Amino acid sequence: MDSSTVYYITFASIAALLVLLRIAHGIRYFHQHYLRPWYLRHLAYARWYGSIARSIPLLPEDLLDLLLQTFYVSGTVVVNLIGVKDLPAAASRAAQLALGNLVPLYFCHEDLGVFFLGVSISRYSRIHQNIGIMVILQAVVHGAIRVQKEGLNLQDKRHFYGFLAAIMLVTLLVCRILKRRLYELFLKLHTGCALFLLYALWKHINPQTGSSIVLMVMCVSLFGGSFLVQVIRVLYRNVALGRQSARSSLVLSGNTIQVHLMLPRPWKIRAGERINLAIPSAGLTSLFQSHPFVIVWWENDIAGNGVSIFLLVRPRTGFTRKLRERLVDGQQYLALVDGPYGIARHGVSGHVGDYGHVFMVTTGIGIAAGIPYIKELLEGRRGGKVKTQRISLVWQLEQNDDYSAARNWLQNLVSQDGDYQLRVLIFHPARLESPMASMRIGEHNMIEVQTKEADWEKEFLAEAQRQIGTMLVIGRIDPYI
Ligand SMILES: Cc1cc2nc3c(=O)[nH]c(=O)nc-3n(C[C@H](O)[C@H](O)[C@H](O)COP(=O)(O)OP(=O)(O)OC[C@H]3O[C@@H](n4cnc5c(N)ncnc54)[C@H](O)[C@@H]3O)c2cc1C
Repeated sequence: MDSSTVYYITFASIAALLVLLRIAHGIRYFHQHYLRPWYLRHLAYARWYGSIARSIPLLPEDLLDLLLQTFYVSGTVVVNLIGVKDLPAAASRAAQLALGNLVPLYFCHEDLGVFFLGVSISRYSRIHQNIGIMVILQAVVHGAIRVQKEGLNLQDKRHFYGFLAAIMLVTLLVCRILKRRLYELFLKLHTGCALFLLYALWKHINPQTGSSIVLMVMCVSLFGGSFLVQVIRVLYRNVALGRQSARSSLVLSGNTIQVHLMLPRPWKIRAGERINLAIPSAGLTSLFQSHPFVIVWWENDIAGNGVSIFLLVRPRTGFTRKLRERLVDGQQYLALVDGPYGIARHGVSGHVGDYGHVFMVTTGIGIAAGIPYIKELLEGRRGGKVKTQRISLVWQLEQNDDYSAARNWLQNLVSQDGDYQLRVLIFHPARLESPMASMRIGEHNMIEVQTKEADWEKEFLAEAQRQIGTMLVIGRIDPYI
């Protein structure tokens, strides 16, 4: 290549890069100012659809989900039919579609899947579930036609492994009922059945054709690859040369545990992040479990990276109960931290600080998700980085010790609030045991306590009357985050 060609290519590349950056900026602007507001108004929170969805149990939560699911199902049905002339061809097509749909299900790291697709955990889990159901439907079509044509002979190796694969699929579907009550058992059963399904399918598909081999290899590679990435992430986060591994210490506050973690490898922490935590000292099985918790508070080093983080844990019946029963208040324990994950890492949800007015509603332990946003907004305000002029938090206590678990952080926040931007209103229902009078507390009396149940609609309407700029409403009113 002569020098003038190199010269032209270099200049053309620089010009192309500038144009690409401009386009990327335009897309981002369009997304933030037009596409996302339109999506929120007409799809995510479409009022007419919300009332229908609430009354019909199996309908998806938002309109976008319904549209995507309709597109997915109708598209698959079309592929089921195109070019299919007889029943054996229909059975083969269904088998191909079952195998093809199986591939994305083997991406075994939910948090990374959420990160790559930029969707919420619940949407990711719905996508996973819908694809799983499609695999089962295709397998049913395939199996029904084959059995009707050939009968079922379990002495035949192909039939036997096909039957085993069907049992695995049914188990995968049914074991979902364990998810809420026996999460760890569900997880192990789900993974075990998914792996055994691959083995059964490998034996069932005979002769293995080029495309079926490729699809099976893709399943194995996705599973192995995502597992490996997870192992590398955990090692990276927990092992740093010359530094101690992550250490945790616990403070019990009634029925809530404050977990303090010292991080060997700090990172710049953002509101909305969570980590997956394992503390082996909680019990032998705890080494193989990791549980998600929101980062409620953090302390930075001089470079602005979080060196220590705090979590608020509400004990349930498994790992979290063992934390409370087996670990000693104030003592240090080895911890394994995996993360960070969460909305802040998706980069598609817009910034809370872009809104003039932020209104948060929460109940009980849900405060863990609200505090980090207030912290970040107040810090951003001091650094001149956010537009927010008013922040209101309305929090209804669920248990007697809710307030004491978060008190120090709330008081710290109001004392940082030099411009009186932050308003905290706590509802302390009379049904809770510990008495608390209606009063004002905290620096400049900025925390107001009312001893009654919250009237959420009234609070929202009152807030809307004082609206400054665009108002963002954050929160979920139930005991779970
Ligand atoms: C994104 C996210 C953030 C969360 N943040 C907090 C928080 O800041 N503070 C807090 O107290 N709780 C939080 N939780 C809930 C917390 O993860 C569970 O309470 C905890 O894992 C229960 O552990 P356990 O063994 O005691 O559960 P169990 O008593 O066995 O089950 C209680 C509930 O927790 C669910 N659960 C159990 N293990 C897991 C797991 N590994 N992953 C997901 N769900 C599980 C079960 O399905 C069940 O619904 C969060 C959950 C999620 C999904």
